[in-house]
Amino acid sequence: MTSKEPQEREQGRVAETSDRTRCAGCGIKLQTEDASRLGYVPAKSLDKDPVICQRCFRIKHYNDLSGATLNQDDFLKILGGIAGTNSLVVHIVDLFDFEGSLIAGLQRFIGNNPVLLVVNKTDLLPKAVNSNRILNWVQKQAKEFGLKTVDIALVSAKKNIGFDQLLTRMDQYRKGRDVYVVGATNVGKSTLINRLIRDYSDLEAELTTSPYPGTTLDLVRIPLDDGKAIIDTPGIVYRHRLTELVNKRELPTILPNSVLKPMIYQLNEEQTLFFGALARMDFVRGARQSFTCYVSEALKLHRTKLERADELYAEHKGELLAPPALEHLEELPPLVKHPIRIPRGGKTDVLISGLGWIAVGGESGAELVVWAPKGVKVAVRPALL
Ligand code: GDP
Repeated sequence: MTSKEPQEREQGRVAETSDRTRCAGCGIKLQTEDASRLGYVPAKSLDKDPVICQRCFRIKHYNDLSGATLNQDDFLKILGGIAGTNSLVVHIVDLFDFEGSLIAGLQRFIGNNPVLLVVNKTDLLPKAVNSNRILNWVQKQAKEFGLKTVDIALVSAKKNIGFDQLLTRMDQYRKGRDVYVVGATNVGKSTLINRLIRDYSDLEAELTTSPYPGTTLDLVRIPLDDGKAIIDTPGIVYRHRLTELVNKRELPTILPNSVLKPMIYQLNEEQTLFFGALARMDFVRGARQSFTCYVSEALKLHRTKLERADELYAEHKGELLAPPALEHLEELPPLVKHPIRIPRGGKTDVLISGLGWIAVGGESGAELVVWAPKGVKVAVRPALL
């Protein structure tokens, strides 16, 4: 059977997927006393196989995600536990929101353990894009954020792209050690872990008890043939990602589902683009130029004159300008302004974390004001495509 590292035994945080004292869905320690606390399971359900907590039961059967979740401190404590282990850390990021999904200061939490950076959702890229170019871009951006990596793998968990290479690299770098998988929520960590279980673990029989998407609350240990394990960690909820702020029902509209189709707008200065009522870009000053938007196809864009923009938003948010739908408008923080100056020269992306990005040509420079819900990260970077 699988051997545990001493530190992990001390922390008592590692759940075997066959450990009946922990929830087979999210890994939390089970308890039967307090229904308002995490890990609650009615005593009569304890002999079920697999045994899951009431929160996972509700998620599974009623799609009810309202149960308690971990706070940021708990996440960081769990991450911090990795520093005391000798392992390989697989950090999954979302190519659609690279800067928004990188774990800031990851190296502080994980000690000297090597990081294999796995960039997911590459199926969203147009076929013609050269993967070496993407690799170079990722390398540069990771360095910019102070993240040292032993290697980078480009994958699509959903479309099964790049997995042979990922498995080879995991074997090469883990050198017989455990693998900790870390990432923000909605980057596709559950999809990737489920695929790894299928391809990599000796645990075919455990598939039915694999974590339900996005619900892991504690470490979940998936045994490997050599007695080591892949250890899934809870997804970190970054409230600077729009995906974490919108109502779950609206997520399918903003998460792209297939290859990104660039939407190109030729704009004159003093024109505005609305992205539903989720964000807005004012082209304040500059020569007529193109703005290429990489957002979900399901999201409606609206062009108007800058002088009309406030009025249009006030009158039509939640209706013509949606999402959010009228009933979810109040759930979202108000839009705040980010003044941005696009320099003359190379192509630049303006990223709105979780929503996508706008590529600006840069031949003549431009002055923009980007509006996004308060707290959502807006960043300027060298163009990805
Ligand atoms: P988690 O919160 O990180 O565990 O993420 P999930 O595995 O639940 O995935 C979050 C969303 O991203 C879901 O809508 C998935 O369908 C989608 N997703 C996951 N992997 C991929 C991928 O490789 N490509 C694309 N386009 N979407 C993906």
